[in-house]
Amino acid sequence: MAVQVFQPLPTLPDHPALEQEILELWEREETFEQVRERNRGGPKFSFMDGPMTANNPAGVHHGHGRTLKDVFQRYKAMRGFDQRYQNGFDSQGLWVEVEVEKALGFGSKREIEEYGLAEFARKCRERVAHYSEVQTEQFRRLGQWMDWDNDYYTFSDTNIEYIWGFLKTVHERGWLYMGHRSTQWCPRCGTSLSQHEQAGEENYVEMEHPSLYVRFPLVGREGEALVVWTTTPWTLPANVAAAVEPDAEYGLTEDGRWVAVACFPDETFGRRARGDELVGLEYTGPFDDLPAQAGVVHRVIPWDEVSLEEGTGIVHIAPGAGAEDFELSRVHDLPVLAPIDESGRMLPPYGDFVGLSTIEVAEPVTASLRERGLLVSEGTIVHRYPICWRCKTPLVFRVVDDWFISAEEIRQPMLDANDTVEWTPPQYKKRMDDWLRNMGDWNISRKRYFGLPLPFYPCECGDLNVIGSRAELEQRAVSGLEQLQELHRPWIDEVRIRCEQCGREVARIPEVGDAWLDAGIVHFSTLGWRNPVWREHGYATGASAGLSGADLPDHAYWEEWFPADWVSEMREQIRLWFYSQCFMAVTLDGRSPYERVLTYEKVFDQYGKPMHKSSGNQIELDEALERMGADVARWLYCAQSPSQPLRFGYALADDVKRRLLRFWNSAAFFVTYARIAPFEPGAAAAEPQGLDRWLASRTAQLVRDATAEYERFWTPGVVAAFEAYADDLSNWYIRRSRRRFWNDDPAALQTLWESLTQALRVVAPVMPFLAEYLWRRLVSPDESVFLADWPAEVEVDEALLEEVAAVRRVVELGRRARDEARLKLRQPLRRLVVEGAAAAAAHEREIAEELNVKEVEFGAVESELRVKPNLPVLGPKLGKELGAVRVALATGELEQLPGGRFRAAGYELEPHEVIVERTGREGWAVAAADGVTVAVETALDDDLLLEGRVFDLVHEVNSMRRQQGFELTDRIVLTLPPDLEPLLRWEQRIKEDVLAVEIRLDGSAGLSIAKAGPRA
Ligand SMILES: [Zn+2]
Ligand SMILES: [Zn+2]
Repeated sequence: MAVQVFQPLPTLPDHPALEQEILELWEREETFEQVRERNRGGPKFSFMDGPMTANNPAGVHHGHGRTLKDVFQRYKAMRGFDQRYQNGFDSQGLWVEVEVEKALGFGSKREIEEYGLAEFARKCRERVAHYSEVQTEQFRRLGQWMDWDNDYYTFSDTNIEYIWGFLKTVHERGWLYMGHRSTQWCPRCGTSLSQHEQAGEENYVEMEHPSLYVRFPLVGREGEALVVWTTTPWTLPANVAAAVEPDAEYGLTEDGRWVAVACFPDETFGRRARGDELVGLEYTGPFDDLPAQAGVVHRVIPWDEVSLEEGTGIVHIAPGAGAEDFELSRVHDLPVLAPIDESGRMLPPYGDFVGLSTIEVAEPVTASLRERGLLVSEGTIVHRYPICWRCKTPLVFRVVDDWFISAEEIRQPMLDANDTVEWTPPQYKKRMDDWLRNMGDWNISRKRYFGLPLPFYPCECGDLNVIGSRAELEQRAVSGLEQLQELHRPWIDEVRIRCEQCGREVARIPEVGDAWLDAGIVHFSTLGWRNPVWREHGYATGASAGLSGADLPDHAYWEEWFPADWVSEMREQIRLWFYSQCFMAVTLDGRSPYERVLTYEKVFDQYGKPMHKSSGNQIELDEALERMGADVARWLYCAQSPSQPLRFGYALADDVKRRLLRFWNSAAFFVTYARIAPFEPGAAAAEPQGLDRWLASRTAQLVRDATAEYERFWTPGVVAAFEAYADDLSNWYIRRSRRRFWNDDPAALQTLWESLTQALRVVAPVMPFLAEYLWRRLVSPDESVFLADWPAEVEVDEALLEEVAAVRRVVELGRRARDEARLKLRQPLRRLVVEGAAAAAAHEREIAEELNVKEVEFGAVESELRVKPNLPVLGPKLGKELGAVRVALATGELEQLPGGRFRAAGYELEPHEVIVERTGREGWAVAAADGVTVAVETALDDDLLLEGRVFDLVHEVNSMRRQQGFELTDRIVLTLPPDLEPLLRWEQRIKEDVLAVEIRLDGSAGLSIAKAGPRA
């Protein structure tokens, strides 16, 4: 039988270089295709990709999400699951439009219209085509395995048709309506924005605005005026009312100002009145001379929501320029004056202000109030103010007509559906519930261009025609079909249909849809819901033709793959994609479209600060992958808890590299000795020793624990299990077994080989490149780790693991005790006493060797105990009870409990909740933790000192061997200066430890080594 020759490993892994090598290998061997082929027909694991906007290169935060998706898809693939790997691109809507506008240098909608909608649509598609390719390359480099040529693009006609079908259903249920209301409006984008788009923290910034206190003189009450406070001077010309809190107390100051008493506690008031006594009073508006104000009667209205925390307790109401103001106009039948047009500029009936933006008009408004003596005071205020989620322009309020889907009837079914979903981390389930409880009606219309064309054809007869499919459109069209290239503006706008009620010819409304409709429908559109026959490339229609080869499957396929077993996106998607897909699926099918969710927080820099180009701490994904390597980036992403902001940076990457090196070094150690032996896996029958049995069990434990962590979608658990294992492997098994490897012990080599190869399979989903690279070196150059079976779960010898864990605890504490006494490990000591680690008792010899002591005793350690509270842990747990516990511990009023626990002041304290210090008696050094105490005798006699010098000599000679480039197996002749002669009491031991065949004493020379000649 041929002996396998292992290729030597470099000292350090060059991550980027080996990753390129593996990428080429996967490409050449079509590894991913082989994996899919192998799993075809196996049990199904249904994953649905949340589409990523293809408008720019991907950033490191995208790398985070992509890594998590890939880790669990790879894991499931290794478990034999048949899966879908369809990647999604979000490809229409404001996302894309704003980027194209920037590229073309446009700043307003007018410029788009002058440019031409057809040409603009082409530019949007081009941008998506370009960046979907860029992103694909980036994610391939990250190691993500996807069906890259069959992506879904949300601007496909098929996707659009499925949304049309959804909208028709919604209309049939009576949920669709046109609302005339005040909404947040972006003056640059020229469209309203919805609650769910704008709800994110990042959509608010600190801004400085004017802060004006303005007098509204009361009619018929000479010298008296209401005082209001505003930070939006542009809304004053549209004022129609002033609101007071009916139950609050108001007062009139000596100089004739009415304000809420609670807002001005230091003011002296003459007359006082309850708010409801002021209701109904009329006042002179601040800009009554404007044409817009003709005929408006200004009066005081009651409003329970008036704040007494800021301002004057009297609120200026302009229903055309604020959401609450608009609601009040309905209750109190107030006129609605709209001051601005869709680009945020003042309209003609506003006199001299016409054409000015909301910012530009502040100054002339203030000047006019000042001149007329209406300004009480003026200043500025810095406050949090909403900006457009897409273009960052400060928002205003406008009253417009928008299309809404009522959330009333769907709310409870969505809550019920969410109740069936398993969220990781679990606390996010409640966040989703909170969002669903508070969600308003879904504003689905945007006054824009390259987006889902809303298929609404309102007729003057009062009927709203909603088209549910392209077939229906073709059937009912009266003109325009011949030029319909794809279901986008401007082409779709040319198609007229016949009203189903009266037969009139009707045109489509110009609005396009919210982009979250595009992403929310994909559980239906990509899986062929209600599609009678499978259509090859049938999804790649309209704008996506030529970009993708995706099929449109048939309904049977949908039945197989819906709902998704698992989806994973960022936490902010609770109000975005998780919400929209749930809304649409519950509407169409009554079920949640996903059974499990993994969600995660944002990516910050390595100091925990948000990354920004302007702060100079932004890291580009491409650069990160090339500088640190994809595996290292993946490890960083996976090691941290998804419920915390993730820290990402090069210093953290270096730390990961150091941690990964431990496992690499273990593999390199194996290869070195396997080459020397030479060793062939499984070739020779070898009797395993105790430590081999321990490592086998420890490996089984890794397999069991990591599998459990994968099953609960918890990467930090996988990483922690692997890192603890790599430490045990290197710092216990290999270190304790060195001599056996020097002696080519086949049992040790076999045990180490099995452990390394099992660990590689377990860790492969997280760091696929390094795992594949080492697998090819350790198992077979022609076989992929991803085609190997997942390691079988075998029984774990818990007792044995506990024994060795106890030994490692004792050794760790023994080292700490030695450190405190400043006794280096090479100095042998006489005695060690262990208390509280009974499981370690059978390992006296190993403990003695590890800690370089002559005797190990198990028994009581005489020492003084001091227990302190671990404040960061106990503080939050005990709250104000902490004081009592602290006093009890300080005065020694405590009781020791088994397992390192304590009782104090009536509380039981766990080992991690306290800091235990023990002081030994004279001549002893003591260390304690988790209920184990270890004491070493510190006294040294001549014998111990001499032996310490022997250890020093061995250490020095072995360093010389390495420095002088000796092979591990080279035998040497060692020459000592005469003053080291006493050490020859230990001659045999020195020879063994440095591979010396002879030791000479030479009066004229210092310490030296030379290669020994071939042995006779
Ligand atoms: Zn905008
Ligand atoms: Zn009609």
